[in-house]
Amino acid sequence: MKLVINLKLKRRVKHICAKHPRYSPERNGQAGIVGDCPVCSQMFSLYRAKLSVESAIRDFEYQAIRFSQEGQRNSITAA
Ligand SMILES: [Zn+2]
Repeated sequence: MKLVINLKLKRRVKHICAKHPRYSPERNGQAGIVGDCPVCSQMFSLYRAKLSVESAIRDFEYQAIRFSQEGQRNSITAA
């Protein structure tokens, strides 16, 4: 089985909500969104998606290294 994913996300997104210029998804989180503001909600959604992708890649790489090491150990003991 083979997995190849090309991620090219060298993109800087900078936006400030006109109604809530002090809102920061990183600092204020979902609870900091005032009045279900759609702009702040979208900013938070994008921030959460970024964290999710980073976490998924980190978890996969950790598991892939672990399985790779276990495979090597099993092949050594089986020989
Ligand atoms: Zn807002």
